[in-house]
Amino acid sequence: MSELNLILFGPPGAGKGTQADRLRSDFRLPFISTGDMLRENVKEGTELGKEAQKYMDAGDLVPDDLIVKMAAERLQAPDAQDGFILDGFPRTLEQGKELDKLLSQLARRVTAALLIDVPDEEVVRRISGRRVCVKSGHNYHVDFDPPKREGICDQDGSRLVQRDDDKPDVVQNRLHVYHEQTEPLIEYYDERGLMRRIDGTRSPADVNDHIRAVIATLRMEDDV
Ligand code: ADP
Ligand code: ADP
Repeated sequence: MSELNLILFGPPGAGKGTQADRLRSDFRLPFISTGDMLRENVKEGTELGKEAQKYMDAGDLVPDDLIVKMAAERLQAPDAQDGFILDGFPRTLEQGKELDKLLSQLARRVTAALLIDVPDEEVVRRISGRRVCVKSGHNYHVDFDPPKREGICDQDGSRLVQRDDDKPDVVQNRLHVYHEQTEPLIEYYDERGLMRRIDGTRSPADVNDHIRAVIATLRMEDDV
């Protein structure tokens, strides 16, 4: 029986975090977001956090060696031994190759990469209205997924804020970086028969249904 090692892939603001929130409770897989891990490091003021912050503030990618080391440690933690859902990693071809190298050393492999496909203008709409809970990072949208009480997280009552890198000029750079540095990975996973495309423009519930159907098929194919 093999594990479910999934990558959630797509432009910033496509809905990866929103979907991961739903999937992790259904599949009991650890959800590993390099963006969340980096923000945690920044908050705690670690060396990695200090180094990463300047790239994050500008909407640029943190250098591959720092990210690969951080992700490799996380993937080898006990809770990730039976599978994982990765969000925001890999983000460059180099990171994709390093991930394959690491997994093959561990006699494991990527089961599939799920591309949540959303055009740029929708990305901008989604990111500009995104609000996140300061405590646990739950995502909301001022129009598409508003909290019950404005500015307050439904799940734990914490304050909702706009991320610094969700401001318009940084968003444009993040999209540019996605097209330049991350999109080449689509071909990388396509060539390996691992890429599954999901129409990300539909409602969160519809996108979730589609992802679950894809995972069900993968499980049948692989008997996982
Ligand atoms: P989003 O999915 O909204 O783009 P993330 O939370 O995944 O944002 O990432 C926020 C920032 O953290 C990125 O803009 C980048 O600076 C940094 N980052 C996260 N993951 C990686 C990665 N795999 N490689 C390089 N930088 C990363
Ligand atoms: P990512 O993790 O890919 O950066 P998020 O899950 O944080 O993206 O979603 C970005 C914003 O778009 C959030 O404000 C979220 O509430 C909203 N959103 C997510 N999925 C959808 C959807 N299918 N339709 C409309 N808005 C969405």
